[in-house]
Amino acid sequence: MQAASDDAAAGEDAHLLRIRRLGRQLFGVSDCVIVLGGDVMAADAATGAFCRRAAPSGGAGVIPDALRHEALAREAAVSGAPHLRFFASLPVTGPDGGHAGSICLVDQAPRAGFGDDARRLLADLAALVERELALRSMSAVQLDLQKKNKNLRRRSLVDPLLGTWNRGAIMRILAIESERCAKAGVPLSLIVADLDYFKKINDTYGHPVGDTVLVKVASRLRSCIRAQEALGRYGGEEFLIVLPGSSHATALQVAERMRAAVAAQPEAVGGDLLRLTISAGVASSEIFPDASAEDLISRADMALYVAKDAGRNRVVHATPDLS
Ligand code: GH3
Ligand code: MG
Ligand code: MG
Repeated sequence: MQAASDDAAAGEDAHLLRIRRLGRQLFGVSDCVIVLGGDVMAADAATGAFCRRAAPSGGAGVIPDALRHEALAREAAVSGAPHLRFFASLPVTGPDGGHAGSICLVDQAPRAGFGDDARRLLADLAALVERELALRSMSAVQLDLQKKNKNLRRRSLVDPLLGTWNRGAIMRILAIESERCAKAGVPLSLIVADLDYFKKINDTYGHPVGDTVLVKVASRLRSCIRAQEALGRYGGEEFLIVLPGSSHATALQVAERMRAAVAAQPEAVGGDLLRLTISAGVASSEIFPDASAEDLISRADMALYVAKDAGRNRVVHATPDLS
């Protein structure tokens, strides 16, 4: 903030503004200015610029009459409005122990001296500014901590390779959505999808290439779901997709869309074009109204097994007679 007016400063620096007001009243001066790094809190720009130049970076500075001061007499705020004459300042120390700025007093009348009592009083004001700076830096540290915590929490929920929810997170999402759907009286459906013959890809091209394939498949699966639906890594190359509010028929469509999205175009891998496919099992609370979330996963798993058995690259939905 550059030489802000009192009103403009009020929102951002209410505490510092109070200290300035106190300074003006205690010393009967026209302004009490706070300079902190590039920020100057003063009644006007000329006063702010004057204080910034007049305040020494260490120790106290007292100029009884600026008009008699060789350099400062030419300052705009001295030779012109607001015609400052008297100046006194003390340095302000930052939370890190370094020089943070200064607190200054200015007046339009010259003053013969600035005694020890006055110095002590100004030191008290400087201490108030230092306390305010310490409080600010504490909240900055807390904000930083909060941000780090958020990142940590995110990392504990997301699979680092695929960027999908990890197993713990997708199971938690499933539990929450299952309860929410039951309360709202809407169905909950889920899909368990597994890459076909993935071991062969690892064996042929190596594990790192296998990783790349997994990333590509996850991204194709993600393109098939909407914001309120969730994609999680359930196991190595097995995904769990939670579809809150989706009917059995809709879930089947989504699974079919996923299967088609993966099979659509071959993926360029290790100099070869690989045809990738997935198999998927679908289960819905619409078909199994009394099933728990875990029961639904078992049902979808069973359907997946049937899909694998039937030749892979297909979707099978769980029905009560499927076993
Ligand atoms: P199926 O069609 O029956 O599913 O056969 P598959 O080869 O895909 O299944 P299988 O369960 O025999 O092998 C899965 C392989 O996935 C074995 C494991 O090493 C590999 N795998 C699991 N997680 C990862 C991973 O993060 N990266 C890589 N590259 N491979 C993984
Ligand atoms: Mg597999
Ligand atoms: Mg598997």
